[in-house]
Amino acid sequence: MISPKEALKKLIDGNKRFAQNKSLHPNLGNELRNALLNGQKPFAAVLSCSDSRVPVEIIFDVGVGDIFVIRTAGHVLSKEVLGSLEYATNSLGVKLIMIMGHDNCGAVKSALEIYSEDKYHEFSDNLQSLLGHIYPAFDNLDFKSNDNLLQDAVESNVNYQLSDLVKKDAYLAKKINEKKIKLVGAIYRLDTGLIEVVK
Ligand SMILES: [Zn+2]
Repeated sequence: MISPKEALKKLIDGNKRFAQNKSLHPNLGNELRNALLNGQKPFAAVLSCSDSRVPVEIIFDVGVGDIFVIRTAGHVLSKEVLGSLEYATNSLGVKLIMIMGHDNCGAVKSALEIYSEDKYHEFSDNLQSLLGHIYPAFDNLDFKSNDNLLQDAVESNVNYQLSDLVKKDAYLAKKINEKKIKLVGAIYRLDTGLIEVVK
């Protein structure tokens, strides 16, 4: 298994190829599919938003068996998501976890509106649960005369999920602390196609 640093470089290099329209579309086809019948060894885990404009394998120019991807609206850390990340690191040997937000996130935008208008209780239990995972990201936001409110909220949500992961998952926190796993945050820019590593 490659090191966390090498794994991050691999993601960044693939993303640059994608952004420059030079994708290699690696690791596709029957032969590879057959080679992976009995197991997988993904080199990184990525928790991303479900937004259709952020197709994770495509924007990192990777193929079958390369990365372990979890997607929810707003890339939130429910117990099932944390369990999936534990599985990726514990059973599959993944050493890099990336939490990736993106520009103009519809989930964050909707959550901001519902938060501002105090309409939380008008939504179903399931949506309230999702909102509950995003709301704390708004605690330190400057809501007044802020032209970049959505962008600030997107960044804040990535930072909040990074800190929440360490707070809620003792297993992952220990591995990160021991430097056996690297945890990074990133924001995908819809216009350039590039990711920016934020932490
Ligand atoms: Zn989104």
